Amino acid sequence: MSAAADRVALVTGGARGIGEGIAWRLAEAGHPVVLADVLPQVAETAARLAAAGHPARAVTMDVSNDAQVAALPRALGDWWERLGVVVNNAGISPKAPDGLPRPVAAMPAEEWRRVLEVNLTGAFLVSRACIPPLRARGWGRIVMITSQAARTRATIAGAHYAAAKSGLMGLARSLAGELGPDGITVNCVAPGRIATPMAEGAAAGVNDRMLRAIPVGRLGTPRDVAEAVAFLASDGASYLNGATLDVGGGSFMP
Ligand code: NDP
Repeated sequence: MSAAADRVALVTGGARGIGEGIAWRLAEAGHPVVLADVLPQVAETAARLAAAGHPARAVTMDVSNDAQVAALPRALGDWWERLGVVVNNAGISPKAPDGLPRPVAAMPAEEWRRVLEVNLTGAFLVSRACIPPLRARGWGRIVMITSQAARTRATIAGAHYAAAKSGLMGLARSLAGELGPDGITVNCVAPGRIATPMAEGAAAGVNDRMLRAIPVGRLGTPRDVAEAVAFLASDGASYLNGATLDVGGGSFMP
């Protein structure tokens, strides 16, 4: 059995978009994959993977729901102890009806809380739940999907999203320090503009405008992000810990 075949990969928000792309890439690397998503279509996504010969399972769950996250060991069953890779990808980026993010002055507190709950607290809950099996095997990879909104001033996402994704980077650094001694690394991937249903929800012209600021001359694909995640999940990345990989075609350069 290859090393990857004994390292189950859990991908949150795996029903579609970037999460689905990550699941396919990790499956191609040999990992059994678990897709966890609020969208019921997650079962069909897992079925497509399985039909292509990749061991895959689906869990319908909300990453911000304590009880549902606490039920992960039961949901994964005999795969729980084989968990090796955790990708915190589930996220939301609410917009006003005109497709633009609401400014802080017009942002309902409930919208602020929900974005923090899903994008940040969800990653905390899932990561915390997954520590025991990773620690038990003395090897693990946790990858946070943040955003360039956490790297530079956000223009197409709201302040809640920028705050949550920035918080995710702080969470990753803290976890990287806590878990490094256990053989578990924690890193971030910060995508630029990726063509997914989330990006398609933006106001007219936004993606065209962003395209002009991307040196490689195209929007990113889920596969572009997945390649970076697959590298971080590999043995070759064992000395990257607390790092952030920018996957934006050069639209942001630190
Ligand atoms: P999508 O909206 O296409 O996919 C995200 C998936 O996560 C959806 O299936 C969504 O379900 C699911 N999800 C939402 N909330 C929860 C929850 N509480 N629990 C479990 N699953 C949930 O987004 P992308 O694929 O574009 O984005 C994936 C990640 O990448 C996100 O974290 C996003 O912030 C980040 N990102 C995306 C960029 C882009 O340009 N697309 C750029 C930078 C970062 P539902 O549809 O029901 O909400």
